Amino acid sequence: MWIVQSRMFRRWGGEIFDASVLHSVRITPSIHKIIVKKPDSFSFLPVQFTFLSLMTSEGIDTRPMSIATSPSRPNLEYAVRLSDSYYKQAFGSLKRGGLVRVQGPFGDFILNEKRPAVLIAGGIGITPLKGMAEYASDRRLNIPVRLLYSNRSEDEIAYRAELQELEVRNLNFKVFNTLTGKEIPNGWRGSKGRIDQDLVRLAVDSLKRPIYYLCGKPSMVSAVFNMLLQMGIPEEDVNYEVFRGYWN
Ligand SMILES: Cc1cc2nc3c(=O)[nH]c(=O)nc-3n(C[C@H](O)[C@H](O)[C@H](O)COP(=O)(O)OP(=O)(O)OC[C@H]3O[C@@H](n4cnc5c(N)ncnc54)[C@H](O)[C@@H]3O)c2cc1C
Repeated sequence: MWIVQSRMFRRWGGEIFDASVLHSVRITPSIHKIIVKKPDSFSFLPVQFTFLSLMTSEGIDTRPMSIATSPSRPNLEYAVRLSDSYYKQAFGSLKRGGLVRVQGPFGDFILNEKRPAVLIAGGIGITPLKGMAEYASDRRLNIPVRLLYSNRSEDEIAYRAELQELEVRNLNFKVFNTLTGKEIPNGWRGSKGRIDQDLVRLAVDSLKRPIYYLCGKPSMVSAVFNMLLQMGIPEEDVNYEVFRGYWN
């Protein structure tokens, strides 16, 4: 089955390889991550996506998936918001030693290493932006990087500890969390409500002509994109990756 599929996929280009799962873990109530072995020959830019094929109970299934880490790290990482699709069930059940098929890299959602960066993520849209933040820190890029990260509840903030650790390591990097759900825990020190103009202004502060990188479900990306244009930000300074497949 893998053979038939790989003939079809070869037309799409990119490298194709099978990779073993090194680590598989639930990181929030609804998000699961895997780390897979990166072959020496594989390289990508910060941060592209690949197609990721899994053996599900209904046969092989494939989704485009952002790489959730930096090319400066030794392996590949992916994280998904779980659903009841066969693909997501297979993803959430992957065990160490299991095999996945990777094809890529693809895409032009890539960090500009010379301009300040404002990363704006909704929920699982954090995946490529976390990779960009890691890259800026690992490569000691001399650019300010701000991450605005919106989630429904505190327990759904993915990679919280990793992002905090990056903030400590890289004084050019700052995270601004906001919660959109009704139940905000006592003592919450981040913002409340959706990412709005005030939060963007707070995060951008005195940064000179930053590039904005938006990632999340279609409704979130288009709402933030329109808001940035209303704020007078030139369209060419706004990049985005839309996670099509999340309709609501
Ligand atoms: C470049 C790129 C990178 C991505 N990276 C990630 C990532 O890092 N993590 C991640 O979790 N996801 C990512 N995605 C999205 C991912 O590819 C899947 O689309 C998504 O995870 C949903 O998959 P699923 O198996 O849960 O649902 P699917 O079975 O694919 O269906 C998604 C939902 O949409 C509904 N649906 C399907 N088709 C239609 C339609 N035509 N009209 C209306 N509703 C429909 C389904 O009923 C279901 O509720 C990325 C997408 C792109 C394009």
